[in-house]
Amino acid sequence: MTGAGDLAEGRPLLLTVDDDPSVSRAVARDLRRRYGEDHRVVRAGSGAEALEALREVKLRGGRVAVLLADYRMPEMSGIEFLEAAMDLFPRARRALLTAYADTDAAIAAINVVDVDHYLLKPWEPPEEKLYPVIDAMIEAYTSQPDAEVVETKVIGHRWSPPSFAARDFLASNAVPYRWFASDEPEGGRLLQAAGLSADTLPVVITPDGTTLVAPSTTELAGAVGLSTTPATDFYDLVVVGGGPAGLGAAVYGASEGLRTLLVERQATGGQAGQSSRIENYLGFPDGVSGAQLTDRARRQATKFGAEILTTRDVTGLRARGPARIVTFGDGGEVAAHTVVVATGVSYRELAAPGVAELSGRGVYYGSASTEAADCADRDVYIVGGANSAGQAAMFFSRVAKSVTLVVRGDALERGMSHYLIEQLHAVDNISVRLCTAVDEAYGDEHLEALSLRSLPSGASERVDASHMFIFIGAEPRTDWLAGVLERDQQGFLLTGPDLLVDRERPRGWSADRDPWPLEASLPGVFVAGDVRADSVKRVASAVGEGAMAVALAHRYLGTP
Ligand SMILES: Cc1cc2nc3c(=O)[nH]c(=O)nc-3n(C[C@H](O)[C@H](O)[C@H](O)COP(=O)(O)OP(=O)(O)OC[C@H]3O[C@@H](n4cnc5c(N)ncnc54)[C@H](O)[C@@H]3O)c2cc1C
Repeated sequence: MTGAGDLAEGRPLLLTVDDDPSVSRAVARDLRRRYGEDHRVVRAGSGAEALEALREVKLRGGRVAVLLADYRMPEMSGIEFLEAAMDLFPRARRALLTAYADTDAAIAAINVVDVDHYLLKPWEPPEEKLYPVIDAMIEAYTSQPDAEVVETKVIGHRWSPPSFAARDFLASNAVPYRWFASDEPEGGRLLQAAGLSADTLPVVITPDGTTLVAPSTTELAGAVGLSTTPATDFYDLVVVGGGPAGLGAAVYGASEGLRTLLVERQATGGQAGQSSRIENYLGFPDGVSGAQLTDRARRQATKFGAEILTTRDVTGLRARGPARIVTFGDGGEVAAHTVVVATGVSYRELAAPGVAELSGRGVYYGSASTEAADCADRDVYIVGGANSAGQAAMFFSRVAKSVTLVVRGDALERGMSHYLIEQLHAVDNISVRLCTAVDEAYGDEHLEALSLRSLPSGASERVDASHMFIFIGAEPRTDWLAGVLERDQQGFLLTGPDLLVDRERPRGWSADRDPWPLEASLPGVFVAGDVRADSVKRVASAVGEGAMAVALAHRYLGTP
């Protein structure tokens, strides 16, 4: 193949295929002379070679405007090639090159398959015999062109949990992607170009055409350029958790010259990344979405030199002399002088029949903004009575037919900010059902209905529902720290003065001083944000504690 170069390049392709090298060269030369500035001209010596090039262009998201194929070629004729090429690029305009002797056969074939033109060889002068035809083909293509797709492509089943997980992961990590349902034509074409079937989904294709089948989040992270392995094995500061507290610690740590590593098991942003609009964070009078705030914080942390690892679950912490060793789920580890634990809290699960089975297929924890398009004109239920549920109701009310907030309590005022309650009341398609619990979720492939129970009367009602988003509180997941750091009964981490019982320092405490504020029961380990016992569950306080933990880490590093 000649002229292929970077097939992903933005200009649409003009592809010519002819088994006679001299003819092929001549066509390409004439095409380049007139169209080379706005198009890439590529020539192939056989149908198979040309199809291979087209598959690569498809995977890389490129466009094909015109296909010219010699009628008489061994192995695969021009007609056969054009038919196969149409499966990949149905919008490309098609022409056959024929010798005079083959004209009748070519015309007969044109009547069988959908070919726009035939061109007689030789076509001298091209100004008269070639360019008018190609001009017309390019014009026809330009009036209905393909869309160039420069982003990562995800092909999956609309309602499959692994497909949702891949999209959710990319969206949470601010990786641009385009979604293609496997049962839609373009999804099918991409699978065909990759030589895959719809049996194992999702299929993820990166902008350079690399194809991943049902990748793990770590594989996905690596393929889209997110770092998953630490650059070195010793740091001044390791931050565990990439929510506001962890990102705050990373920004302050790195900006103050500490060699800083942030380790996040899923996607940076934490709970705040889930928020469709944070209205009360200082400096954003018009509110800011969690995704925007996270993107800025992540860029800020990396700008100062912090290293950010995604998809690495921290499962252990121990002291080795003065070093603090952080262990990953896959057995790897890094050491540091100091550690900030900022692992926040995770959603509590709704224990009602059917909910677990339909999770990822209409039932979601958190606001799952990737699902917004699917909620268009549907009945959406939001479970929970705190601000997070209220924000989600506002968010989905913009697309859904109806949004119903299902709240166990008897008044929204118990858990929700006043401004949000006022906003909810002002939106026509939002209704609130107080004193109500979800008893059961129904559906085969996808959520179809819910059973709602009125708590005062006990009466149940079955309602149609396509989506349910659950926000029923959260709990810290700190089991991995049992026996290492002191925790309260709910698993929140105790720090500073809370560790002193009758003025006694915690068991095994090795420093010759009391624990500082935010310091855990292992000297040099600090705790910031929601995971800390008695913390204020807010973005601002999490960020503030992250900054304060770094100041204390400095103090710790300067102490003999
Ligand atoms: C939908 C929603 C809306 C909200 N709206 C607001 C609002 O408007 N205003 C406001 O002030 N607050 C709001 N909050 C609360 C606010 O988001 C939290 O208080 C804040 O995110 C806490 O930050 P954090 O860093 O302590 O923890 P989190 O945000 O919970 O982040 C913890 C991070 O640690 C990671 N992690 C956990 N365990 C591990 C491990 N073992 N290894 C590696 N990584 C780990 C998690 O994946 C997560 O990314 C909202 C919360 C939600 C859910």
